Amino acid sequence: MPAIVTVDKSPSAEEFPFVWGKIVEQLREAMSEDTFTRWFNGVELAALSDTDATICVPSHIYQLWIESNYLDLLRASFLFVLGRERKIHFAFVASSGTVDGVSLAPPARRKAEPVDEEEQEQEKPARATSYGFNPRNTFEAFVVGATNQYAHAACLAVATQPGKTYNPLFLHGGVGLGKTHLMQAIGQHIHAKKKNAKVLYITSEQFTNDFIDAIQNNTLVKFRRRYRQADVMLIDDVQFLAGKERSQEEFFHTFNSLFDGHKQIVLSSDRPPSEFANLEARLVSRFDWGLTAELQPPDIEMRIAILRKKAQAMEIQLNKETFDYIAERVRGNVRRLEGALNRVASYASLNGTQPSIEKIEHLLKDILLEEARRAVTMEQIQKRVAEHFDVRLADMTSKRRPANIAFPRQIAMYLAREMTKGSLSEIGDAFGGRDHGTVLHAHRLVKERMKQEEKVRQTVGFLEAQLHR
Ligand code: ADP
Ligand code: MG
Repeated sequence: MPAIVTVDKSPSAEEFPFVWGKIVEQLREAMSEDTFTRWFNGVELAALSDTDATICVPSHIYQLWIESNYLDLLRASFLFVLGRERKIHFAFVASSGTVDGVSLAPPARRKAEPVDEEEQEQEKPARATSYGFNPRNTFEAFVVGATNQYAHAACLAVATQPGKTYNPLFLHGGVGLGKTHLMQAIGQHIHAKKKNAKVLYITSEQFTNDFIDAIQNNTLVKFRRRYRQADVMLIDDVQFLAGKERSQEEFFHTFNSLFDGHKQIVLSSDRPPSEFANLEARLVSRFDWGLTAELQPPDIEMRIAILRKKAQAMEIQLNKETFDYIAERVRGNVRRLEGALNRVASYASLNGTQPSIEKIEHLLKDILLEEARRAVTMEQIQKRVAEHFDVRLADMTSKRRPANIAFPRQIAMYLAREMTKGSLSEIGDAFGGRDHGTVLHAHRLVKERMKQEEKVRQTVGFLEAQLHR
């Protein structure tokens, strides 16, 4: 397979921080802040060629640990950022500051021996806050547009007056649409305003793990104190509580205790409260007490705005065609959009020149394939909608018109128009030979009902998010 990024000139050591910075972003997405700090804070990129990468670690313990736990992740991160895997080698920091003849920027830590936990404690990473927030996830860095302005406004209100406006705030939407970003923005905003506020950000999986640990180690009292004394609790991806009865029970009490104390609670999930199965009704009903806000996939203007903002932050200049090309092709998910930009930016930085459109196509080959694979077909929409409303697939194309069939069919037509490239008459054909006026009517009607009925809006949003996966 030909190299996707051709590094014509050997990248100089000054260029490594940029590439490594992008890799680090990927690593941080995949692990907790503590783990990242423990194992990667003192790690640097020492050499990079078309086929190989050498990373410099403080000692052999790091090599051992990273090799046995994070090698796949590292490889995947190189692939993600540069478009091609690298064979990974390790080197230790030599006292002269060179590795295999390559000079290094001073690493954050130069120690021959592994660092023990206590020392680690004192050495907080400069770029991470003590709460495990990713410093990139701020309100300033968040691009607001038609599909997320409601959620954004709600988050801003909560961040400005925690516990006083919407409580709880429940954010929902598909993968990579900014739920974690907004929650952490709330946390960081509150923390910046009030240094001693106890802001707790945690995923529901961490909550469950902590809870199990507490049972095993007989430390439930400590566990409860930690959670119930929070001033602000941000709990991410609550869908993972589904099916875990004891964790739900514990969470229910935590929730009540915080809520009764007028402490701000923010929850996120991949689906609206109404779509939960395997989650206790009394818990689900509480999710609905405050405000529910949805994040939907970004439209084209937003995608371009996001790309521009991120390129600016990276201090990379790209032309309009490049932005348009990426934004038109990478649609459903901001994370993938960022991945595509990172690759183009890495190329531009390494080669000192902007890639041509053909080159970009080549660089993004697998991302574009993935997008195409994820492109939703009309059949998938019909099938998913039929399942959801418990009607027969044949009813999507039939002429039968009772409301319990007609409305799901109209929703499916609406989704077909929103999510596929099909023209009105192509969509009409796929729905049993209806004319384009019927499709247009269905689209308008669903849109209108979404404006007026929260339930319809939620259902359509949920179906869309599921289809995007
Ligand atoms: P989720 O938690 O919904 O899966 P994330 O919050 O992790 O999604 O977002 C995925 C990536 O996309 C993050 O790097 C985030 O910063 C970025 N992102 C998402 N939405 C926006 C936005 N509106 N503006 C800027 N960056 C965004
Ligand atoms: Mg998330």
